[in-house]
Order: sequence, then C-alpha cells, then structure tokens
Amino acid sequence: MSDCKLNDEQGRLAALNRYEVLDTAPEKPFDKITGLVQNVMNVPIAAVSLVDVQRQWFKSIQGLEVTETPRNVAFCHHTIQQREPMVVPDASLDPRFSDNPLVTGEPYIRAYTGVPLETPDGYNLGSLCAIDYEPRQFDAQQITILTSFAKLVVDELELRQVASTDGLTGALTRRGFMEAADQEIARSRRYGRPLALALFDLDHFKSVNDTYGHPAGDRVLRTISSCANASLRASDSFGRLGGEEFALLMPETDPEAALDCVERLRRAIGETEIALDGGHIRVTASFGVCPLSDRYADAESWLAAADEALYGAKTSGRNRTTFAHGPQVAIPAS
Ligand code: GH3
Ligand code: MG
Ligand code: MG
Repeated sequence: MSDCKLNDEQGRLAALNRYEVLDTAPEKPFDKITGLVQNVMNVPIAAVSLVDVQRQWFKSIQGLEVTETPRNVAFCHHTIQQREPMVVPDASLDPRFSDNPLVTGEPYIRAYTGVPLETPDGYNLGSLCAIDYEPRQFDAQQITILTSFAKLVVDELELRQVASTDGLTGALTRRGFMEAADQEIARSRRYGRPLALALFDLDHFKSVNDTYGHPAGDRVLRTISSCANASLRASDSFGRLGGEEFALLMPETDPEAALDCVERLRRAIGETEIALDGGHIRVTASFGVCPLSDRYADAESWLAAADEALYGAKTSGRNRTTFAHGPQVAIPAS
C-alpha cells in the first residue's frame, strides 16, 4: 500500500518541503550522526543527503567539501527508489554506476551503502549514506546500525519541525521564522532582490481575554492566523513571534507592494467577525513594515527596526501601518 509512495514524486517533494530544511545551516544533531557513521562503519565519507528536484543537498556531510551535487549523478537518487538499504560493494563494477563521474573522477567513489530516510507517512526524503574510496563489503551488523541511525535522522527532522511550528496557530515559531528570515536575507543579498518584513500586534488583545476568557482569545489568535495565511503567497513566511505578535516575510516585494499587501491584511483583519460564546467580535492590529536594506546587519536588527515601526503605529493610534525609516508613511486608520 505505502509503496505507491515510492512513485509519488510530487508527494515526496511536498513532504521534503514540509520539513523546511533545504539550504539551512549545519546543525549539531545531524553532524553527530554522520560523525558516528564514519566511526562505526569505518568510512572516510558519511552524509545525510536530501534529494531535491534536481540535486541532492547535504544537511550534513563528513569527509567531503561539497554542499550538493546534481541529482542525475547521485547514488542516493537510486536509494530513495527502494525501501531497503542500497549496498554497492564496488561501484566500478556496477553497471548503474561504473560510468558515473563521481566514480570515474573525483572523489572516486568505490563502495556505497545508503539507507532511505523514510518519513512516518512513507516518503523517502533522501538517504543516510556511508562511502569509501576502496571496494569493500559492509557486514549485516553495520547495515543494521546504519538503519538505526537513519531512523534517528528522521526523528531529528521531525523534532526540528515541531520546534519551528506553533501548536496553536500552525504559524512558524520565532525560531522557525528567524531561520526563514536568515535564508531569505541571504538570497535577497545574493541576487539583489527586494525583501520586506512586516510585524503586527493585535490591539487591546488583553481585553478580549479579560472579557471572553483565554480559550476565546486562543480562537481569535487562530482566526487571525488563518486570515494572514489566506493573504499570503506561497513564497511568503508567516510566524507567531510571541503571544499576539506576528510577522510576515515577503520575498520579491518592494516597499510599495509590501504596504499594499499589509494594508489589505489589516483591513481584512478588521472586517473579520469572530464568533465567540458571548457574541461576535472584531479585532484590529497595528503593523510595522521594514524593507530590507544594508543598514541591517542581520535578521535580529532588521526585526528590531520593524518592531520600532510597529511601536510607532501603536503610539499614533493603533489599527494602522507605519514604515521603518525612509519615507515615513503613516497610514491613517480607516
Ligand atoms: P496593545 O494594543 O498595546 O498591544 O494591547 P494588548 O492588550 O494587545 O497588549 P498586552 O501586551 O497588554 O496584552 C497582550 C495579551 O495577550 C496578554 C496575554 O495574556 C495575551 N496572550 C498572550 N499569549 C496568549 C495566548 O496564547 N492565548 C491567549 N488567549 N492570550 C494570550
Ligand atoms: Mg497587543
Ligand atoms: Mg504584544
């Protein structure tokens, strides 16, 4: 039953994207596992390879100075097509790999064992693999251990995912959002593309809790999150940074477009009727918008500037949007 998932490439890529791990910085738990694989399997190279559309990208790799390779030469591309470990004792004698450029040239791979990284819902995201420059056999115990480590890799990916998703709203947590911001800042600077950030905070939210109770407040937070999600493009990120404070990250968005988008969301929030036990209510939110520029060294200082703008929106009357720096566009409440 679950094996039809081996042929479901769309589903597999969607599963991989759900983990939001591609192109993230190295992380210790994964490096520890590949370090252990090197020792236990006695191999010079060990890697956590994730198979993307056209490349394999390494969340962790020991023994080689690469971050990715094209998918069409990746051994792991073959591993993910099966449920069992793929063992190649001598790649130069294996018709699938004998003319592979990684075998005929640098790094001259000879032996390979890869265990698929299978998600709880049955998709192979990539593989945990052990590689040697010499032809060799891997014994059953080593393969069993590698299989256990592959399960640990998937557990770590799951934990990472839980830590970056807010349980109440499904938005990114602060940690998840900061990670997305770091990635987008790097991309924006590399390609010279615009990137905008907006923070918003619900107005007088404490009085919602005080009047209707905390569970009703939670319902409001979920409704506002749905509202924000409905207004996002696929490339945007949405996070809950704390209690009733949220953030939007908008790639490929210049300041005018960001203002447009934020104003639409601000109005949508204000117009949303939320059904609570004690009746229907509406809430409003104040926004601070800050386009990325050279004056921000990192995500933290960028967020601080947006937060200052948000504070400006609060002090000048709430239910409005304020721009950080640059042309001060204070949008009157409407
Ligand atoms: P302001 O317009 O200045 O932002 O006023 P405010 O009342 O929204 O701000 P304040 O910081 O005084 O209160 C925020 C409230 O948000 C207080 C806190 O109990 C509530 N809150 C924080 N997290 C949650 C949550 O997860 N669920 C609920 N229901 N309330 C929360
Ligand atoms: Mg508030
Ligand atoms: Mg607040």
